[in-house]
Amino acid sequence: AAPVAFIAGMSRAAKNGIIVKDGGALERLARVRTVAFDKTGTLTYGAPRVSRVLPVDGVSDDALVALVAAAEQYSAHVLARAFVEEANDRGLVVDADAQVEEVPGFGLRATVAGRRVVVGKASFVADAIGETAAGHPGPTSAQGAAVPGGAVREVQVRLAGGETAVYAAVDGAVWGAIVLADEIRGDAPATLRELRRLGVADSLMLTGDARETAEHVAAELGLTHVRAECLPADKVAAVQAVDRRPVMMVGDGVNDAPVLAAADVGVAMGARGATAASESADVVIMVDDLVRVATAVQISQRTIRVAV
Ligand code: ADP
Ligand code: MG
Repeated sequence: AAPVAFIAGMSRAAKNGIIVKDGGALERLARVRTVAFDKTGTLTYGAPRVSRVLPVDGVSDDALVALVAAAEQYSAHVLARAFVEEANDRGLVVDADAQVEEVPGFGLRATVAGRRVVVGKASFVADAIGETAAGHPGPTSAQGAAVPGGAVREVQVRLAGGETAVYAAVDGAVWGAIVLADEIRGDAPATLRELRRLGVADSLMLTGDARETAEHVAAELGLTHVRAECLPADKVAAVQAVDRRPVMMVGDGVNDAPVLAAADVGVAMGARGATAASESADVVIMVDDLVRVATAVQISQRTIRVAV
């Protein structure tokens, strides 16, 4: 391959806000056959808003929001900010000194004003209150127990519509669920279309979120495969198992660093993303514009055509 053409390709990419770290990455990028995406913050805007507050009987909406906001206020997780905003919108007083232990991919445990608070996905909250130990299947049990009877169906409908439910328990008792909605990026359909046109036929979504939520987003965008409820290690394994290669992984979060490193081409959405993700990536996109992922492939293909 002619180095001059590569340098021209890399500088053309840079002019479009796309940093390709080396010639090898440019070459692999041109041959990509499968694209894998993180969901939250990559295919969606990653700015979820509280859409529904569903406390159990005896707990008020405000009490549930204030407690969850107190537990989440120091968390860097994308969902955390939404609870704090909701508490502010409601004019609630949020207890400032929470002791918090985050459990990546699951949620967090906190002590707020002497109360033990657990916030996170259904299975995590169910485990924390011993529901699973009592012989009930985790997620179903927590969903069933964590929301008032009449709201179980509403939660299911919202999950099927792509929303996310977070559950909370206080001192071993379920307090309810808070549902959050995050929008699919406006340019996500065009990005997928453009990638298919460039020969990237297979697409995969990898997310820590629930299956119902993930499947809705995948169906909206016509992705060919979905892996939900992934821990960072599951994302790595899923990328390693892809057989149509090279595989490109697109992500933005701290949690995405290992899977970006594991892919043949790791692409970090660097404008809003974590430094750790950018450091593990082969390609960093410096503008908040998902279509540039397809632009990167297109520029690399033109470059390789010139160079060989
Ligand atoms: P993603 O892969 O979509 O970026 P994560 O792995 O960070 O998601 O989280 C997976 C799931 O775990 C979330 O959808 C949420 O249900 C739960 N979770 C993780 N961290 C938190 C948190 N700080 N507060 C509430 N829920 C959380
Ligand atoms: Mg993310």
